[in-house]
Amino acid sequence: MTRKPLIAGNWKMHGTGAGKTGLDGLALVGALLAKLREGPPPQCDLLICPPATLLSRVATLIKGSAIALGGQDCHAKESGPHTGDVSAEMLADAGCRYVIVGHSERRSNHGESDAVVRAKAEAVHRAGLAAIVCVGETEAERLAVKAEAVVGRQIAGSLPTAASSTNTIIAYEPVWAIGTGRVPRVEDIAAMHGFVRKTLARNRADLADMRILYGGSVKGSNATEILPTADVDGALVGGASLNAEEFWAIARACP
Ligand code: PEP
Repeated sequence: MTRKPLIAGNWKMHGTGAGKTGLDGLALVGALLAKLREGPPPQCDLLICPPATLLSRVATLIKGSAIALGGQDCHAKESGPHTGDVSAEMLADAGCRYVIVGHSERRSNHGESDAVVRAKAEAVHRAGLAAIVCVGETEAERLAVKAEAVVGRQIAGSLPTAASSTNTIIAYEPVWAIGTGRVPRVEDIAAMHGFVRKTLARNRADLADMRILYGGSVKGSNATEILPTADVDGALVGGASLNAEEFWAIARACP
């Protein structure tokens, strides 16, 4: 089966509406829509994950376009006394089709375990959305030759039993490559993606078709080298997704 690449932009805590402080998230969406209109369309699915405060406004702007909307995280419960949290059902209501869960910044800043990530991924499925489940080793773990063991454990602990190649995507993001400008060698990316694919297939044969994204300092200039790598089905992009030219260059690099 051929897997269509996905280029997903994780805006993190960046972006307000026009005229407010910081990044103008609505202008960024406008610039991406202009790129789509100029054509030709990139050979990939496109996703942007703005902060929760922008979701409804972005949903209105991208309606009917080839850009999909995603949340950056969700609570495992549908509703309840969880001040400041957002449920997967709320994200669906705001127009999201995808939700990122288990990003390394959530795992480290909020102490999220594999069990928590798995419960969140189950919530994403309960809401009828696709979960992007992030995994990846720290630099110390890679240096200790434990990268595969860590990623294998994260996959085993974070993927719901009901995960399928349509409702779940894996994002392999080595923690040491996120926001650092450092990228693994292409052969190391290929080796880890091959390992992830084998691990999925060993669990259940049909999971071999799951999309596996690479994430960590992807930009226009390295995307042409990274994206054609075996078993790489697109990218989860942080910093470079805040710039329409860069994000577009990554999307155009899809083989
Ligand atoms: C990320 O946070 O998911 C990410 C990949 O960030 P960056 O592209 O900035 O390294």
